Amino acid sequence: MRNIKQQDAAVAEILAAEDVRQAEGLELIPSENYVSRAVMEALGSSMTNKYSEGYPGKRYYGGQENTDAIERLAISRACELFGAKYANVQPLSGAPANIATYFALLEPATADKPGDTVLGMDLSHGGHLTHGHPVTAMTKVFNFVRYGMKDVATGEIDYDELREIALRERPKIILAGFSAYPRNLEYEKFVEIAREVGAITVMDAAHIAGLIAGGALPSPFDAGFDIMTTTTHKTLRGPRGGMILVREDEALAEKINKQVFPGLQGGPHMNTIAAKAVAFGEALDPSFADYAEQVIANASVMADVFTEHQIRLITGGTSNHLIVADVYGSLGLTGQEAETLLDAAGITVNKNVIADDTRKPLDPSGIRFGTPAITTRGCTEDACRRVAETMVLVLKKEMTPETAREVIKELALEHPIPESFI
Ligand SMILES: *Cc1c(COP(=O)(O)O)cnc(C)c1O
Repeated sequence: MRNIKQQDAAVAEILAAEDVRQAEGLELIPSENYVSRAVMEALGSSMTNKYSEGYPGKRYYGGQENTDAIERLAISRACELFGAKYANVQPLSGAPANIATYFALLEPATADKPGDTVLGMDLSHGGHLTHGHPVTAMTKVFNFVRYGMKDVATGEIDYDELREIALRERPKIILAGFSAYPRNLEYEKFVEIAREVGAITVMDAAHIAGLIAGGALPSPFDAGFDIMTTTTHKTLRGPRGGMILVREDEALAEKINKQVFPGLQGGPHMNTIAAKAVAFGEALDPSFADYAEQVIANASVMADVFTEHQIRLITGGTSNHLIVADVYGSLGLTGQEAETLLDAAGITVNKNVIADDTRKPLDPSGIRFGTPAITTRGCTEDACRRVAETMVLVLKKEMTPETAREVIKELALEHPIPESFI
């Protein structure tokens, strides 16, 4: 950051402080990760200077020989990574990827008829804001209906209910995917129900794309899903961004391309697309499979520690990278209180609603945490056990956050953020 330091002390100071915060604390927010220096170099490259509206070979401006090359490379790596025939790497983030997908596949509401229907996961059961939360603009345009878990103790989805709702509501999209659900979905059942009602299957893999890419979780495409949307910055460990993959249907891919640009976005962020290409290259390396597997092994150990201390976990544990704990029911702490206590200890988690929460979203009953970032730091089961035990002691007020902070800082310094991953 030599140039920033010389030119702009105010910005340099804030950026340096964030470097220290990330180095000394432990990041347990399950949607966050640390990217390699190579990804950062691509983000900071001259590609940020270029306008490239359109797609490779079909741009609105000249001077595209290198932007075309980098976008084609990102697309081909994405397709290889996920076993897809088509990829659009231009979505600026996960939410715009979902919005473009909705507009590509659905008719919006008009004065005389409601918009087409999306059947997605209940938000308090783990679904995402972009899956039809009333505060989002998409609910003014499309009709969202929901399925949920049959049993919160095991996390089993109620597939009978899902089918009944699908038969009644005739959704155009059956949407799988979540940001706070710790178990695996039975993708085959989604596909079977969708075929019965003539819906398109979309998996929003924003949280678990890296675990799918690394082969640690099954792929929705293997079960016949039509489309996968994702972020590139969570378990996939790339730059902040989104992506839409189409398994094989060319007509679907064309509709999606048209909605991403010019339907929804302007010029693509070519520096981010270059960084996506770098991250996909890292994810194609065999070492990424080890990473993905370790993420899950680490989460499993942390879940065990919480369970050993009688803290109730939603679905009883985890099969992926994240854990949702009912701290209010188990310890009488609100999610906000737990988040604040852990923050003071240098452990970053987020408050989260639990299934059918009786408390409000801004002051819910649970916390959500996970292992993608600390696994990138090289933490394995032993370190994760120590982190979880420290968390439990702080939450039970058997250790002060100040004392815990020293333990965490030591752990963090033992496991520095690596510069390169291959
Ligand atoms: C994070 C997330 C998104 C949104 O991604 P942004 O990059 O924050 O826009 C969408 N869907 C799911 C399931 C997510 O977890």
